[in-house]
Amino acid sequence: MHSARRSELCFSLNYGISYRGILINNHGVTHDQHRAGSMKTIHPSLYRGTILHFLSDPAIDGPAAYEFIEDGVLVVDQGKVVAIGEAEPMIRALDHPANLTDLTGYLLMPGFIDPHIHFPQTEIIASYGRQLLDWLQRYTFPAEARFKDPRYALKMAEVFLRELLRNGTTTAAVFGSVHKTSVEAFFEVSARLNTRMVCGKVLMDRRAPEELCDTPESGYEDSRQLIEQWHNTGRQQYALTPRFAITSSPEQLQQTQALSRDYPDLLLQSHLSETPEEMALVAKLFPDARDYLDVYDRYGLVHERSIYAHGIHLNERELARLKETGASVAFCPSSNLFLGSGLLDTARLDKHGVRYGIATDIGAGTSFSMLHTLNEAYKVSRMQQATLEPLHAFYLATLGNAKLLHLEDRIGSFKQGNEADFLVIDRAATPLMKLKQTHCESLQEQLFTLMMLGDDRAIKQTYIAGQLRHDRDRHMPDHND
Ligand SMILES: [Zn+2]
Repeated sequence: MHSARRSELCFSLNYGISYRGILINNHGVTHDQHRAGSMKTIHPSLYRGTILHFLSDPAIDGPAAYEFIEDGVLVVDQGKVVAIGEAEPMIRALDHPANLTDLTGYLLMPGFIDPHIHFPQTEIIASYGRQLLDWLQRYTFPAEARFKDPRYALKMAEVFLRELLRNGTTTAAVFGSVHKTSVEAFFEVSARLNTRMVCGKVLMDRRAPEELCDTPESGYEDSRQLIEQWHNTGRQQYALTPRFAITSSPEQLQQTQALSRDYPDLLLQSHLSETPEEMALVAKLFPDARDYLDVYDRYGLVHERSIYAHGIHLNERELARLKETGASVAFCPSSNLFLGSGLLDTARLDKHGVRYGIATDIGAGTSFSMLHTLNEAYKVSRMQQATLEPLHAFYLATLGNAKLLHLEDRIGSFKQGNEADFLVIDRAATPLMKLKQTHCESLQEQLFTLMMLGDDRAIKQTYIAGQLRHDRDRHMPDHND
């Protein structure tokens, strides 16, 4: 189906790399003369299919921003990307290796990355008829209260991570509940799967049911213990996670600042400017702050490792301050539409040079699928007379979101040495997608069809560090393996 090579979209690899005695470059694989004889040590796995990944933002760098190989091969060894290239020469030079998986016709891409999602809200997805502050009281808080029970948290962590993998999301920045147990359960399951995940215990010490409130001191201590136990343990990373300004007292924000100083390499995740009602309450609770962002800024929580979900109703000063500090916004289109919070004007963020990514925000978001989320983002852009370009959309879902999490040197692209989290995508997953793909004449059209019609059905397989962890078409062994 995709055998015709489209020359305008093909970009040869411009790096030649030496891999255990083999030189792999855009001409394929040849013996490295200086290290000849080490052939026997090579046991990479090869995956043949159509390859797409991004090197930079196509909205800025155009065709130089991505590599697309119609008949390509992805070479993986010990969980890392060794190379990508044209299939025929690489397979020939490796003397037709036995460990070649033929995925011809499928699209191989780096795993999707979701920079804003709540794991204890999995079961309240699609809860009816409320806007933000009501929705938190009516649905979210009762659901999160259940995560005090470690067995329940463990069970839901299994469900949540399995759902991410089914949807092709291989890394996410995840909110736990206020309970330390929720994050312990999450990291335990994630470590077993070897997924690269970022998670933090929610900090909230007021304006929530008593059983969901910590204190400035306990929030600090629980976070510290989780950091010491889990941060950079295998592929797990901790993020400081004050829920939002409304549910944290000034004393708690001070303690968060102290943690931020103690552990400067941590990401910080929170919410900002989601609804006018929320903003009015923040202004009342923090009368001395210039605006919503200033509340966080006063406690040193606005910096290049901060990710704020939403940012829909920001003023000019806040946008300038986000740009100045390098803090970023997570655009959550399905959540914003579902709660009626508003339309994020990404063109305005671009104009101010504010970094942003794209996220599901489960459980207010209505799908775990990043494909579905790109669909909703496109519609939000059209409502504002803008157009989300498909290449830019897929950049955001992979390398763009990796940059938001400061993980672009590990995930988000097929750069040599990156962790081999990748997807096998079925562009003809449904009869309608199959029909529509036959009318696609460019990569852009193919990707657009995928993001408008695709969802978990289009994710045929998900690999984590070179290991198959989800297969749409067959039952996978239990994650306890
Ligand atoms: Zn959220």
